[in-house]
Amino acid sequence: MTTTTGARPRMLTGDRPTGRLHLGHYVGSIANRCALQRDYQSHFIIADLHMLTTKNTREDIANSGANARDMVLDSLAAGLDPELSVFYLQSAIPEVMEINTLFQNLVTVPRLERVPSLKEMARDAGKEEMPYGLLGYPVLQAADILCVRAHAVPVGKDNAAHVEVAREIARRFNNLYGETFPVPELIPAEVPSLVGTDGRAKMSKSLGNAIYLSDSPDEVRRKVRGMYTDPNRTRADVPGTVEGNPVFHYHDAFNPDTAEVDDLKERYRTGRVGDVEVKTRLATAINAFLDPMRERRARFEGEPGLVDRLIVEGTEATRAAVRATVRDMRRAMGLDAVYASFTSAAQRGRRAVSA
Ligand code: ATP
Ligand code: MG
Repeated sequence: MTTTTGARPRMLTGDRPTGRLHLGHYVGSIANRCALQRDYQSHFIIADLHMLTTKNTREDIANSGANARDMVLDSLAAGLDPELSVFYLQSAIPEVMEINTLFQNLVTVPRLERVPSLKEMARDAGKEEMPYGLLGYPVLQAADILCVRAHAVPVGKDNAAHVEVAREIARRFNNLYGETFPVPELIPAEVPSLVGTDGRAKMSKSLGNAIYLSDSPDEVRRKVRGMYTDPNRTRADVPGTVEGNPVFHYHDAFNPDTAEVDDLKERYRTGRVGDVEVKTRLATAINAFLDPMRERRARFEGEPGLVDRLIVEGTEATRAAVRATVRDMRRAMGLDAVYASFTSAAQRGRRAVSA
């Protein structure tokens, strides 16, 4: 594993350990993580403290370990090179919470209240009122991004507003206390938001509308068969709507055969193709897309202890980097100088008494 900070710029991304990774994670973030892993020193956070903002029962916490292993395995299967990637567990680096506390004073409550994803998350989690920690989600995310002084953050659309908060916090810190952080850049996705199979909201673990990277070919076929499509189309000879139709959104995202996709769209618009054919071809395309991941997953599963070792080594390496960041922050703020003035005065006092 490469853990030196060297000259390469740094990248930070990750997911909450609340379940397995799905096609939405792939297009929104993992595709760019894989594409950039050689150009950037890549840190992947298992964001279990972020999980606590909506899921904090003992059971949620107990399940997060197995979910974290699955997530790392899914990431390796998706194409992240274990030699290049630093995976780490957020809660095992308590200094992140210290940075979070120091950042909390660099952003206002109304600013956070304007972040649209937080209200959605609160609603999806069945919360009637906004938990304090959930309002602070982007601040904690800023701590994640800046604790490793990341330059790049490849995320989907739902996360763009959070990265904007991190950029503001970095600038504010630098202005107040001196140049300490790079202002991180958002790396946008080719498909910034993938709709769920239900066509109602973005694909999400919590909404039961996801196709997982680890789904079997049969599961993929079953989910695609059940996908929401143009509801006005009662028969194959009724002209259908392609725009905003999730089945075609997926064809565009996952079917590399653009001639086939164009032909299907044309026939769909003019009522010359059945939904069954459109969906069968989509399931075939998604399975072809997932097949190399299935092969890689099987290979990595054959290496017992690999995932655990990656998480432990990655967490230790990241913690060392974060400790250095906290030290620099405290110095820049002059916090350490305050306590140092007490310790030296106390020492002088002790010497005076014993003299
Ligand atoms: P979920 O939203 O499925 O419950 P999560 O909240 O644990 O998962 P996030 O932290 O929201 O995961 O997402 C991890 C990354 O994947 C982020 O960069 C996010 O933008 C991206 N992402 C998640 N869902 C989608 C989607 N449907 N389309 C595009 N990108 C997505
Ligand atoms: Mg989410």
